[in-house]
Order: sequence, then structure tokens, then C-alpha cells
Amino acid sequence: MRYDLAVIGSGQGGVPLALDFAKSGRRVVLFERGDLGGTCVNVGCTPSKSFLASAHAAGRARRAGRLGVEAQVRVDVPAVMERVRTIVGEWRDGVEAKLARSSVQLVRAEASFEAPHRLRADGEIYEAEQVVLDTGTRPTIPPVDGLTGTPFLTNTTFFRQETLPRRMIVLGSGYIGLELGQGAARLGTEVTLVTPDDRILAREELDVCSVLTRSLGIDGVRTLLERRAVRVAHDGERFTVTLDEGTVLEAEALLVAIGRTPNVPEGTIERAGIALDERGFVQCDPYLRTSVAQHFALGDVAGQPQFTHVSWEDFRRLRAVLKGDRSRTRDDRVLAYAMYTEPQVGRVGMTADDAVMRGIDHRVVTLPLADVARGAEWGLEEGFFRLVVDPTNDAILGATFIGYEAGELIHVILAHMEAGSTWRVLERSVHVHPTFAEGIPSLARLLA
Ligand SMILES: Cc1cc2nc3c(=O)[nH]c(=O)nc-3n(C[C@H](O)[C@H](O)[C@H](O)COP(=O)(O)OP(=O)(O)OC[C@H]3O[C@@H](n4cnc5c(N)ncnc54)[C@H](O)[C@@H]3O)c2cc1C
Repeated sequence: MRYDLAVIGSGQGGVPLALDFAKSGRRVVLFERGDLGGTCVNVGCTPSKSFLASAHAAGRARRAGRLGVEAQVRVDVPAVMERVRTIVGEWRDGVEAKLARSSVQLVRAEASFEAPHRLRADGEIYEAEQVVLDTGTRPTIPPVDGLTGTPFLTNTTFFRQETLPRRMIVLGSGYIGLELGQGAARLGTEVTLVTPDDRILAREELDVCSVLTRSLGIDGVRTLLERRAVRVAHDGERFTVTLDEGTVLEAEALLVAIGRTPNVPEGTIERAGIALDERGFVQCDPYLRTSVAQHFALGDVAGQPQFTHVSWEDFRRLRAVLKGDRSRTRDDRVLAYAMYTEPQVGRVGMTADDAVMRGIDHRVVTLPLADVARGAEWGLEEGFFRLVVDPTNDAILGATFIGYEAGELIHVILAHMEAGSTWRVLERSVHVHPTFAEGIPSLARLLA
């Protein structure tokens, strides 16, 4: 069977690309070995954010005492988990319906390379002029003694639980560990986070981590820093996790969230000749081209910030490249990210720490949310807004917001950066009182 385009993986970029090409009359084959929709829909953003909606409702109710409102919180955990799976099912069905309405040939099997333009799936051979890898990542499993063979959880299995454990140990303190850890704690689980780093969310600046650690502490999350699990045992009911300094932890569940490993189809290096980088991701140039002609990669597997909006935007960039338009590269975009703990973290561009490390001349200002009227009035003064600018031309280099809905508010900065505007434009802006967003020009005014 011969095709114009073969897409491996039905992730955030692969599906729209396949649909778009099929719509323009090209013969397209799409391979998916798991659930349609990839990580985001099935085991990533959709279930985690649906889960957090319940967790944060419980957390906010418990903390309403500071507003003079005392709430008795009773959580129906099976209903929470069922709601999560229902929402996931609806989104997955949506992807399936879109593909069914198209002329994309969907092959529900694992694809491997026989040769650069020859793929095998389910015993059949498929040939394609152009091949796109959208194969994503999977949880990294550390080589901890005794871990293999125990029923530990990852983000892949976490949402299959009917109920939540009484106690849960979380290995890892990146955004997945923190979101699921805080979420479980707010729904009634006793959570212990273990990280080898000297702070949680080690990629962020120290005071971001301090605000978060304090907030997690209020939710009852215990954080053990600079420690590693060295041995795991499971007796049929409970996990025993031994840490490097000798502490022994016990819990009914163990969640492994230490990072992500790229999914690379069998034969990628040996039979297709596609080069990988030192971390095992597909090596790509700024046009998402791999080392082999007419082979491309997008999304997580292309070794870039691992977010749904990146994979989806890659689709638009790659579509242009495949149609011969090289006016934009994957690097000429402003990237932001959000973490949906409470308080949230929203970040765009570089931090002051990044600027120092890269030797970039910069100015940095910080505004505590306690100084923003809305923060004080609503009892949501945890956190701050921080802006990093270039003193030579007033350009905005980046921002870190931590606080209520910081993931939404960061888009004000993103839009200014994308438009190439300066902090002086921000400083002139008149924002609505009393909103959190009103704090953003106030933040810029600290530079004046
Ligand atoms: C718990 C969690 C929460 C997250 N929350 C957010 C969030 O809030 N916001 C955000 O932006 N990002 C979030 N992410 C990250 C986001 O989910 C990923 O960045 C995004 O899904 C990556 O999309 P992708 O297109 O690269 O690949 P994926 O969505 O991972 O899709 C890859 C697909 O390829 C298939 N596949 C792999 N190998 C083969 C093969 N050989 N043959 C056939 N099929 C194959 C896989 O089965 C999979 O379906 C989260 C991730 C996790 C784990």
C-alpha cells in the first residue's frame, strides 16, 4: 500500500496534520498503537485537569474558613474518578469521530520501520513518500531495586483507579508529581513527595518553590528533599520504600513521576537511519526535519518543551514546511507553560536565573499578590508576579507568575512578547480594578 504521507502516533500534532492532508486530497495513513488522541487526551492534560477541578473545589472549600465560611467537605472519590474517565471518553470519541469522517486510513497497530519509507504494522507493509513521527513520550521508570513487578502507578494508570489510596508516596516533584500529589491530598490521601533535588519543581526559581512548598504543606503534603528511593517492596497491600539515608516509608500506593522517555519506533535508527540526540529524542532542525530526507518529527518526541500547545503548533509549522513554506521555524515562537496546582504557576520566556546563567543583561521586578487589591480582598494573596526585561531596548524577556489563575494571566505577557512590545507599553496600560490582571501594569511600573 502506497501513501503520500504516513503519520506515526495520533497525538496533538499528528491528528490535525493527517486530517488536513487528507482533506487536500492526499493519501494519508495514520498509525496508533494505543488510545486515539495520545497522551494529552487519555493520560495527560484532560484527566489531570478534570481530576484537579474536583480536588481544588475540595481544597478551596476547606480553606474558606479564612473568609468566615466553615465547610464540611465530603468527597465522593469514585464519582470524581468516574467523571474524569467520562470526560476523557468524550474527547477520545471526538478524535475518533473526526478521523472516521475523513479519508485518513487509520491503522490501530504499532508501526515499525523496515526501511526509511517502508513501515510495518500488524504484518502489513505501508510505503509513504513522507513520514512524520508524532510518537510522544512515556513515563520514565527508575532502576530502583525491587520496583519492577510491583503495582506502582504512573500517569498512565493513575486515572484507572476507582478510588484513591489512604496513603501515597510520589517519586518526583515535577509538574506531574505536584499536580497529582496535591490533587490526591486535597481529595483525602496522605501524600509524601520524595525528590533528589534541593527543592520541588527544580526548574523554577527558589521563591516559586517556597510558595508552592508552603501551600502543599497546608494541604498536608509532606515533602522530602534531597532523597532518593533505593529499594521498593510490595507485600500485596502496602508499598515499603527505603530512601538512601535509611528512612523507610510505607503507603498503599506509589506514584512514579520522575520524567518522560521518548517513544521511538522499532527500526528508527537501524533501518530508517534517523538520528537521535543524546537523550534519545529525534534530532530535528528548525523546520522539524529529521536527519533523513522527507522524514519529520513533531511534539514531545522532537526533543522540545513537552506540552500539548507545542505539539499542536508544530502541526501548523510542519504543514507549512511540507507545503514548501519555510518562512517560520519552530524556534520563532514565544512559549509559555502553566502548572495547575494551587497556587498556579504561569511562566513565559526566561527567568532572571536564566538571564544570569546566559550572561544576559537584564532588570527584574517582583510584585507580591498581597499588594494587589483583588488578592487581599479575596484572601488569595499567596504568590507574586515577576517580570524580566532587557534594559537596552525595554523588551520583555520573560515572566513568572505564581498565584490564583496564573496560567491565565501569563497570557497578557505572552501577547506583549509575541507582539514585540515593551514593558513601557505594559506600564501605560490601564487594567480593570480590582482584578489580578491589574497587578501587571503595577508590576511594570516598578521599572519606571
Ligand atoms: C499527567 C500529564 C499532564 C499533562 N498536562 C499538560 C498540560 O496541562 N498542558 C500541556 O500543555 N501539556 C500537558 N502534558 C503534556 C502533554 O500531554 C504532551 O506534551 C502532549 O500530549 C504530547 O503530544 P504529542 O503529540 O507529542 O504525543 P502524544 O500525545 O504522546 O501521542 C503520541 C502517540 O503515539 C503513539 N505511538 C507511539 N509509538 C507508536 C508506534 N510505534 N506506532 C503507533 N503509535 C505509536 C502513542 O500511543 C501515542 O498515542 C501533560 C502530560 C502528562 C503526562
